[in-house]
Amino acid sequence: MDPLTRLKEGNSYFINHNKMDGDYSYNIRKDKKENGQHPFAVVITCSDSRVVPEAIFNASLAELFVIRVAGNVVGEYELSSVVYALDHLKTDTVLVLGHTNCGAIGAALSSHDAGLASPLVNKIRGVISSCKSEEEATKINVLNTLKEVKNYIKSEPSLINTKFYGAIYEIDSGKVNFL
Ligand SMILES: [Zn+2]
Repeated sequence: MDPLTRLKEGNSYFINHNKMDGDYSYNIRKDKKENGQHPFAVVITCSDSRVVPEAIFNASLAELFVIRVAGNVVGEYELSSVVYALDHLKTDTVLVLGHTNCGAIGAALSSHDAGLASPLVNKIRGVISSCKSEEEATKINVLNTLKEVKNYIKSEPSLINTKFYGAIYEIDSGKVNFL
């Protein structure tokens, strides 16, 4: 099964059963220690505690390489983490997952001074400055992160076949809507 289908089917399972059914047993932990990790997708998503990729996609241990930062933005450390997964772990799929009711997007849309959170909020503000709604801003922010990841790895020929997807997670229904 290709990575995109696995993500979609995992999300369908999560919605239909209202739970995850991933394997985190001793046997799989031991296996992944001895044989290493081979995650089938990199997921860049928000730190929001309501957004849990392994549950959302019904994933087992070592299936997803997850990078979480408020507002699912990327800077040099997140980009380096993506490269690690693609180059060393041979993952070939990157998903950027935004979500509804994102506090980071809300902060960026407001005019309040973000104080010590300004580096993050100001980065998102620069991306969504022309957006008219939270929905539009959430989507544009995902697309921008995708663009930044693509730009970062484009000079590396061995990563040219990487597949990229963007999606928005609905925090109440549990549904992932691919863009
Ligand atoms: Zn968020």
